[in-house]
Amino acid sequence: MASRSIFVTWPIEAEARAILERVGNVRTSHTEHELPVAELAQLVADCEAIIPMGAHQIPDAVLAAAPHLRIVAVAAVGYNIVDVAAASRRGILVTNTPGVLTETTADMAWALMLGVARRVPESDRFVRAGKWTGVYWSQLMGADVHGATLGIVGLGRIGQAIARRAQGFGMRVLYHNRKRDPEAERSLGAEYRPKAELLREADFVVLSVPLSRESRHLIGAAELALMKPTAFLVNVARGPVVDETALVEALRSGRLAGAGLDVFEEEPKLHPGLLGLENLALTPHIGSASRATRLQMASRAAENCVAALEGRRPPNLVNPEAWRSA
Ligand code: NAP
Repeated sequence: MASRSIFVTWPIEAEARAILERVGNVRTSHTEHELPVAELAQLVADCEAIIPMGAHQIPDAVLAAAPHLRIVAVAAVGYNIVDVAAASRRGILVTNTPGVLTETTADMAWALMLGVARRVPESDRFVRAGKWTGVYWSQLMGADVHGATLGIVGLGRIGQAIARRAQGFGMRVLYHNRKRDPEAERSLGAEYRPKAELLREADFVVLSVPLSRESRHLIGAAELALMKPTAFLVNVARGPVVDETALVEALRSGRLAGAGLDVFEEEPKLHPGLLGLENLALTPHIGSASRATRLQMASRAAENCVAALEGRRPPNLVNPEAWRSA
C-alpha cells in the first residue's frame, strides 16, 4: 500500500501531507516555481497521483509519461491547468476544491474593488514617495462603492459571495450567467441582464467565471466600449477571460476609470502597458491565499486523492466520464 507514489508540486502543509501518507509515499517538488514539462514528466513517471498546487500545467505530455497515474487532484477550483479531455481519454480522474475558497476569493474581489475605486495602491505609492505635503480638498478623489451598481459576470459560488457582501454596501446587483438562476435572484435580489446590458449599466463589473473556450476574451474591446467611462473592471476569474491589450487601451484612453486585477493573461508576465498606469489595483493571483483557506484546499485535494487511490469516487470529480472508464 505505502509503495504508491504521490507527487505534490509544493511541500504541502503537514496536515494535508498526513492525509496522503495514509495511502502512499509523498514526494514533493524542490521548488514552488512551475517546473518545465519535461522535468515534471520525469518526476511523475512512477506516480499514481499528482497534486498540482499553483500554476503547474499538466498537459497530455505529463499524463502520458505516468502510465500508473490514476488521479490529478488540483488544489484549486479552476482546473484549466489540466488537459481534462486527455485525462478522460486516458481514464485519469481530475478533481478540484470547490467551496472551501469561495469566501476568501470574494474578499479579494472586494479588496480590489475598494482598492481601485478609492485609489488605495496609488495613495500608498504617493505617501511612500514623500509627495504628501498637505491635506488638499481635491487630493486623490475616488469613486463611491456604496450605493453603486455592481454587475457580476459568473454568479456562481464566488459571484454569490461577492453579491452577499454588496448588500451591506447598499448596492444594486446585476448578474449575467449563461442560464438564469431564479434562486439567486430571490435570495440576493440580483437582477439578470444579458451581458451587453450589464456592461452598460454597471459601475463595477466583477468577473468570476471559469476559464473555458467560451469565456476566453469574454471581455474584449467591444465589451469595454459598452462600459461607462466612470466604471471599473475587477477580474478574480482567470486572466484570459479579459483581452488584456484591449483593457490597457481602454484604461489608457480613459474609456474606463480603472481596473482591479488578481489574474493576468500570461502569468506571471505583466502586459507592459499595465505598468505605466495609475488607475489599477494589482495582486499576483492570490485570490484564495489566506492561510486557513490554503490549508483547506490542500486537505481537500488530499482527500480527493486518497479516495481515488482507495478505489472510491472522489467527492470533487470534474470528469465523471473517466470514472466510468477507470
Ligand atoms: P462556479 O460556482 O462554477 O460559478 C461559475 C459561474 O460562472 C456560474 O454561475 C456559471 O453559470 C457562470 N459561467 C460559466 N461560464 C460562463 C460564461 N461563458 N458566461 C457567463 N457565465 C458563465 O465557480 P466558482 O467556484 O464561483 O469559481 C469561479 C472561477 O473563479 C473558477 O473557475 C476559477 O477560475 C476562479 N477563481 C479564481 C481564484 C483566484 O485566485 N483569483 C480563486 C478561486 C476561483 P452558468 O453555468 O449558468 O453560465
